[in-house]
Amino acid sequence: MEYKPLSGREFPRFSQIKTFFRLPWAPITESFDVALLGLPFDGGVSYRPGARFAPTRVREMSSLGRGYHWSRDITLFDRLKVADVGDSSVVPISLEQTYEKIEKFIADILKTQKKTIAVGGDHSTTLPVLRAMRKHYGVPLNFIHFDAHLDTYPAAWDCEYHHGSFARHAVLEGLVDPKNMIQIGLRGPLAGRDDLKFVRDQGIRTYTVDDVREQNINVFVSSLPEFKKGPTYISFDVDCLDPSCAPGTGTPVPGGLTTYEAQKILRGLKIDNLVGADVVEISPAYDLSDLTSLVGVDVMFELLSLMAQKA
Ligand code: MN
Ligand code: MN
Repeated sequence: MEYKPLSGREFPRFSQIKTFFRLPWAPITESFDVALLGLPFDGGVSYRPGARFAPTRVREMSSLGRGYHWSRDITLFDRLKVADVGDSSVVPISLEQTYEKIEKFIADILKTQKKTIAVGGDHSTTLPVLRAMRKHYGVPLNFIHFDAHLDTYPAAWDCEYHHGSFARHAVLEGLVDPKNMIQIGLRGPLAGRDDLKFVRDQGIRTYTVDDVREQNINVFVSSLPEFKKGPTYISFDVDCLDPSCAPGTGTPVPGGLTTYEAQKILRGLKIDNLVGADVVEISPAYDLSDLTSLVGVDVMFELLSLMAQKA
């Protein structure tokens, strides 16, 4: 099989069956480098639902995707064989059953020595992915977490697992290494000062929008830690962006990053082995002109580029 996007000259971009980046759909048993997949589950949201519809909409908007990275001077689909492996099976009314299905789907992909980029789903979908990654790699992962929110919150309505608690569980279950974990795009208001206790106790490095903006963006990016040892995972919650850049999300917070700042940060990250990533919390029903889905496509492009750099 040829792992190249369909040509827009032969089939204009509004035509044909929609897969991520117009790449072939392939079973995970085929031989390629990166599996793109959907996690269409939003049973972990506390406010506006709808992220279950993101994988389909992002596939559609990814018809506008291109493969050449201008500032890196690399052609992604020459360096990496990438395919759409479809969506994980989910159970829309059971988070527990969905977690089992996602973890198994990711584990099956990892067994074939592939990297993964997932489109959520709400942020609760990241936890089963990290569980599969931790088991496969045998060590806690380095973790780069883009978000307006800490996602280290306690149980809600007596339910431990929801989109605002996944990062706490990821640390407490030993899936990620808090000493090699950073959070970018954070901002208030918070419910109280206590909200910060977990990240401070764990030694997680946090970067607010003020931290990003206080200096030139290039200076900020060069101040970030490098991830040279061990497997690294990136989780990109689109609400790290300002609602003017990404309105289609479940829990928008004013005063966020611009799309350009997020691009600059993603381009500047120094990672030797990015094994997996996701883009979560895109809620198409709240979107305007598919802006947020298009941002999702752009973030996927930058994530693929980070994988291609070292491939
Ligand atoms: Mn989040
Ligand atoms: Mn968030």
